[in-house]
Amino acid sequence: MFKKIVTGSIAMIAVAFAVVIADDKQQVKEPEKVELPAMKFDDVNEVAPGVFFRYSSISATDKTVPFGGSNNIWVVFKEYVVVIDANFPKEAGDVLEAIKKTTKLPVKYVFDTHHHGDHAWGNTVWAKAGAKVIGQTNCARLLKLNGPDEWTKEQKKADGRKDIKDNELKLVDESFDEKFVLDDGTQRIEFLFLGHAHTAGDAVAYLPKHKLLCTGDACVNGSFNFMGHSNSASWIKVMEKAEKLDVKLVCPGHGKVAGKDLLGLQRRYFTELRAEVQKGIDDKKKHEEIASGLEMNWYKEWTGKAAKENGDNVKHIYEELTGKVDHSKLGFRTMPGGLTPAASALAAEPSR
Ligand SMILES: [Zn+2]
Repeated sequence: MFKKIVTGSIAMIAVAFAVVIADDKQQVKEPEKVELPAMKFDDVNEVAPGVFFRYSSISATDKTVPFGGSNNIWVVFKEYVVVIDANFPKEAGDVLEAIKKTTKLPVKYVFDTHHHGDHAWGNTVWAKAGAKVIGQTNCARLLKLNGPDEWTKEQKKADGRKDIKDNELKLVDESFDEKFVLDDGTQRIEFLFLGHAHTAGDAVAYLPKHKLLCTGDACVNGSFNFMGHSNSASWIKVMEKAEKLDVKLVCPGHGKVAGKDLLGLQRRYFTELRAEVQKGIDDKKKHEEIASGLEMNWYKEWTGKAAKENGDNVKHIYEELTGKVDHSKLGFRTMPGGLTPAASALAAEPSR
């Protein structure tokens, strides 16, 4: 049962997993049913007891839809609240207000799923509200090295975001390498680093009691994959690891809440894209030609956008497969240019 907090009536769509899996012993697993909340932008739904999801506005096809940053999830523990993704400062303020409608408890932690602005730049707002910022080690380092330059650049832009002009960058307070767990007996969140996916510092928030996975941009529901900082081969492995978790509900970084099948769709996109690009390279095609020849109708059915329109993703994989990408330095640069001086400093810094 999903409780819609902000507006409208409770609406549900029951989705049955169509896949029936037979193992060696010919035992058949019953398809698992999962209820998905029908939601509008900025709606808040209680997707599991004490777990709230706020759906941020975004569209890959409709330019009139304003970009509302990342989705947010918050988990109400006995004495405090944990927020997943900091969003931008303005949206962080909106989320904070939405949280107050669900609980009087203070926000103790905010978790950056990765260092990108729409997931981490709101840290400043959460810190002022008394929260500590958690992030994976690489996320913390990427934010520290890239954040200041990118923030200043945004502040100097004539049409830059006002919330960036009015605020200052806040870095990660507590970082972890592999796993960080919060558990008070009522709620449990496992923050897990599964490998380099959308960025080198992606981590997911897994709520085993509710079989719920918050993926950040390691998995999105729609045509929202930015691959510029990604390692596509590793990303596929990260999805495979995520699929091994006992999950019923996926709360993506962008797009609507979905069943576990979303992880498979996300993995399929990179797997097929890599195969198509490799085929194109073997046929001596340029990345533009490979992109324009993409079919992948299932992708359009899923996202509403044709795979051939995501030329940047094809280009990134093309560069990976032709040895032009140094994954150890990815993300340590402003997009889409070369390495920043800070990045060279990082390359020289021993990793822990
Ligand atoms: Zn991102």
